[in-house]
Amino acid sequence: MLKRVDLGEADKILTLYTPHFGKLRAVAKGVRRPSSRLGGHVDEFAYADMLLARGRDLDIVTQSQTLETFRRMREELWRGSCAYYIAELVDCFTEDRIENGPLFDLLVVTLRGLSESDDLWTTVRFFELHLLELVGYRPQLTHCVGCRTDIKPESNYFTPSLGGVLCPACGRNEVSGLPISLNGMKVLRYLQRLPAPPAGGLRLEPAVRREVESALRSYVEWLLERAVKSCAFLDRLRFEGMAS
Ligand SMILES: [Zn+2]
Repeated sequence: MLKRVDLGEADKILTLYTPHFGKLRAVAKGVRRPSSRLGGHVDEFAYADMLLARGRDLDIVTQSQTLETFRRMREELWRGSCAYYIAELVDCFTEDRIENGPLFDLLVVTLRGLSESDDLWTTVRFFELHLLELVGYRPQLTHCVGCRTDIKPESNYFTPSLGGVLCPACGRNEVSGLPISLNGMKVLRYLQRLPAPPAGGLRLEPAVRREVESALRSYVEWLLERAVKSCAFLDRLRFEGMAS
């Protein structure tokens, strides 16, 4: 589940992401009453097996059984905040009722990582790169998006408005190009190539992390034409030293 919003006195509207129908909105009726049978089984970000009935406007949740709650994500603020961020991105980048099985799998793997991994930074960057690919915006990291030459092992420029990397010659003339070091490029390419997040995480210098994170964030915000709401909260937690 990506999101829950209160409706009327006792209901909630749920935004769900499903393996076969993509994103769906459904009503969980009476779920805020203490006596509700559904109550304990419609947690935000949980992985659940649900039965929906076709409604006039929105589907109606008739049964729900939680399969995974991702416990540590609920107990630790930073883990939970990262989950808000990835759920917001999935919501922003998808339309209702368009099947995308690989994106469903990516979401489950990422939520599991946010509950279990000790390197949430890498879990979230892996998610961003692969989400972009699965919704048709794979960042171009091997050829210059200006002159098409192979990107060489040196400092280059990441350019959100062009969806990839510019070589030094092209990048110098592009005002929106963000410098990206050789190590920053290696991390982006490595994570893009991997089929699953690296089990042990990545040990990286803070400067390289900042570069990679800001390249991906700029690209996401350029595509959405706005800031991602939950990013402001993540930034504040980090500023206050509550991030890992
Ligand atoms: Zn070039």
